[in-house]
Amino acid sequence: MAIDLRGRAWTSLLGLAAGDALGSQFFVPAHRAAFEARTLPPGPWQWTDDTEMACGIWKVLARTGRIDQDLLAAVFAEHHDFDRGYGPSTNRLLRLVREGGDWRTLASGVFDGRGSWGNGAAMRVAPLGVWFAGDLDLAAEQARLSAEVTHAHPEAVAGAIAVAVAAALAATGPGKPGPFLDRILAHVPEGTVRDGIRQARTLLTIGDPASAAAALGNGRQVAAHDTVPFCLWAAARHLDGCERDGFEAGFWATASAGGDIDTTCAIVGGILAARPGTRIPAAWLPHLEPLPSWIGPPGQRDGGMTMDELFAEPPAQWGLRGDPHAWAALRERLNAMPVPEDPARLEDLLAATFLDVVGVDPRTATGEHVYREEFAHGGMSSGHVHLPTWRDRLLPLLLARGTRH
Ligand SMILES: [Mg+2]
Repeated sequence: MAIDLRGRAWTSLLGLAAGDALGSQFFVPAHRAAFEARTLPPGPWQWTDDTEMACGIWKVLARTGRIDQDLLAAVFAEHHDFDRGYGPSTNRLLRLVREGGDWRTLASGVFDGRGSWGNGAAMRVAPLGVWFAGDLDLAAEQARLSAEVTHAHPEAVAGAIAVAVAAALAATGPGKPGPFLDRILAHVPEGTVRDGIRQARTLLTIGDPASAAAALGNGRQVAAHDTVPFCLWAAARHLDGCERDGFEAGFWATASAGGDIDTTCAIVGGILAARPGTRIPAAWLPHLEPLPSWIGPPGQRDGGMTMDELFAEPPAQWGLRGDPHAWAALRERLNAMPVPEDPARLEDLLAATFLDVVGVDPRTATGEHVYREEFAHGGMSSGHVHLPTWRDRLLPLLLARGTRH
């Protein structure tokens, strides 16, 4: 797999986690007023089951390069944290797998032998779609495999396929809403989820998320068919604006419809963040709970170095007071992403992430420093990032660390 797809898949995972974490804050009654005013509630924003399971998928892909269902079941069960908001059926299934149960029997046996049609397979799958974005049939097939481990019903599987293909297309394909949904439909099996996506296609001219959700659902039934069509409607409408404020606008549009908000926002966040150039709002970064440490380095399989390691040792000297905060934000953003082998790609990745986090391209920006409010924590020159320091010392230092291996 091309390294840039893995990088985009990682960004998709971060977008999924961001949507999940902020979306889940809607359920805190004290935050109600903040949301009505569309202001940010106080952090930290903890992610929920959506992110935990997406990290499980990532771990399996990083280890084996494809979905090994037995391994995925084991990883889900091993890292299952009861307090992360799982549904009762998945809680029980994962506990029984941990105790030695066979996921095949358990997943197909629930709900009187129908299997779960919940939205749990769709909520975790966007990064997988991006991982396989070079081949949409393969993305759909791997999504099916990832779903079946806990959600055996064909509608849950269809929901996972739809979201995976959507994320793959966001990373590589058309940005216009209609063609985007048409290409997804080409991969989704017949059924209620597919009917819903077809209906979403007819509602693209509607601008009001509540009206769209009234027709398509908003996840209130936590079912694939009342979650996925609305999410794809929201993603389709914001995909083209992702280089500007599309991610943030897509989040608020999705959240405003209510329902299963952490999951709808995780799905839309994972799809929109797959789009090249998408920016997760910098103001969110300090509040987002980091991904779990057990996700480990995704370069495990090829023994590669991860970006996090480049930032482990701080430089001997900073330029201005915002610099260590920018350093931390870059580190957080890149985290377990593998270091590209080609130095030119590493340089591009660092510059692009700096642009995402600080707001200017370090290679072309004029002026001495940039002020970022989220890096201001008191003191003289607070919040200021010193561009010559980054251009001449810090970015070359990171580049040197990354090309030495
Ligand atoms: Mg959740």
